[in-house]
This record gives sequence, structure tokens and C-alpha cells, in this order.
Amino acid sequence: MNLENKVCIVTGAASGIGLAIARRYARAGARVAIADLNAGAAQVAADGINADIPGCAIPVTMDVTSEEQVEAGVAAVVAAWGRVDVLVSNAGIQIVNPVEAFAYADWKKMLAIHLDGAFLTSRAVLPRMYAQGGGAIIFMGSVHSKEASPLKSAYVTAKHGLLGLARVIAKEGGRKGVRTNVICPGFVRTPLVDRQIPEQAKELGISEDDVVKKVMLGQTVDGEFTTVEDVAEVALFFAAFESNALTGQSLIASHGWSME
Ligand code: NAD
Repeated sequence: MNLENKVCIVTGAASGIGLAIARRYARAGARVAIADLNAGAAQVAADGINADIPGCAIPVTMDVTSEEQVEAGVAAVVAAWGRVDVLVSNAGIQIVNPVEAFAYADWKKMLAIHLDGAFLTSRAVLPRMYAQGGGAIIFMGSVHSKEASPLKSAYVTAKHGLLGLARVIAKEGGRKGVRTNVICPGFVRTPLVDRQIPEQAKELGISEDDVVKKVMLGQTVDGEFTTVEDVAEVALFFAAFESNALTGQSLIASHGWSME
């Protein structure tokens, strides 16, 4: 599968899963905008990709919860490269706490980054995709789009919500060539997960080793983490798939933690 001459925007691409997707897309022939809140890390990520494949990455400073920054960021990509073929709405954070102790501000922040971010970035790229005759939108869901875990009320709610938004855009965009799908990874060893290990150990009163072996990987078929490269391959598949046969779908990549 290749993305020759495609223009892609990946949010949260300065780190973890988003960075692996941006790298994979560049290797598949795409030009990639590294859209991230962290301007310095986005620049480093773009420089790293350009060192291997010159001229194929640009950094875009963007808080996905800011209407103005999302509109300006997408406009900057169109100004640089003339089009947008693929959006990966991937930026995300995690906050863990039991519901009774979950701060309202944290709840709103979680829903804003995951749900407002997906809405605002989709709304910004859709007119361009419709004018071009098509495109692909990919949301970074999670096994938590399908399953629940204690301490993750806002995350589970937001990740479930992304399935609904993806299905609506798939229906609205179908006749205009825009496909929308959701990737649902299991646990992937990124900074987002590394931060959770001591937090969950404290909340659940168990060792960090048990958080990894029992809570995170206990229900996989082989006790293995999903990798950023695994998720990037699924993101390439959804981006490069050429027909509406695959739209409004969600694909779980979790070493069998969740099966359907
Ligand atoms: P990460 O912490 O490594 O990277 C997240 C990136 O998002 C960072 O570069 C950060 O600066 C950026 N970001 C945060 N808030 C932002 C904002 N408001 N606007 C723009 N950028 C922002 O995390 P990751 O593990 O790579 O997670 C990426 C996505 O994958 C998230 O949506 C997460 O929920 C999802 N996910 C992760 C896992 C996992 O186990 N790591 C599993 C399933 C789904």
C-alpha cells in the first residue's frame, strides 16, 4: 500500500503512536504535517523524518481543542501543499481516577482533547476533502472504545463517543468520497502508558509489575504489548484503502485482549 503524493495531517504526532504513523506515512510516499501542542517536539519529529526523506514533513503547532488553532493549522498545511488527503485525529491524554474523585475540570479536559479535537479537525478538513473529491479520516480510538476499565470514566466515554462521530461522518461523506474509520489499540508502551503504571499501582494498591502483567496485559493472548509500529500499519491500511467498502468501521489491534 502506498500514499504517493498524498498530504496527511497527524495530530499528536510529536510522540508515541502519532509519531510512528507520521514516519510510516512518510515511508509510504506521503507528505506529513506533524500537528502537536508541543511545538519543540513537533519540530524535532519533523526534522527526524526529513533527515531520512527530505522535504516530506512540516511541524504545525496546534492545540486540537482550539477552534482557531485547528483552522489555522489546517490552512497552513493547505497553503504549503495545496490539499489534505488524510487526517489522523490521534492527539490524546489520560487521566485516571475513580468517578467520585474525578475533578470536573479533568473530565472536561479529557472530553475536549479526544472529542472536540476529533470534531474540530474533521470539520476543518472536510470542505477541502469534499472539494477534492475524497479523503480518509482516521480516529485513534482504543480497546476502551469497546470495553470499560475502572478509573477511566472520561477516557472510556470519549473513546466510545469517537465511534459515533466516525459513523456519522462516514454517512455524510460517503457520496463525496470521504471514508472514516477508527483504530482501537490495546496497551502500547508510550509516554501516555508509562505515566499510568505508577498511578494505577497507587490507586489499585498493587505493584507496578502487577499493573503491567495483570491489568494491562492480563487478558491478551500472549502477554505482549501492541507496538506503535503495529498501530501505524493499521493506520496505513485505513489511509490507503481505496473504496467506500471500508468506512464507518473500527479495528481492534490488541493481542486478543478484546475480540469481536
Ligand atoms: P503520547 O503521550 O505518546 O502522545 C500524545 C501526543 O499528543 C503528545 O505529543 C502530546 O503533546 C499531544 N497532545 C496532547 N494534547 C494535545 C492537544 N490538546 N493538542 C495537540 N496535541 C496534543 O500518547 P500515545 O500513547 O501515543 O497516544 C496517542 C493516542 O493513542 C491517544 O489518543 C491515546 O488515547 C491513543 N491510545 C493509546 C494507547 C496506548 O496504550 N498508548 C492505546 C490506545 C489508544
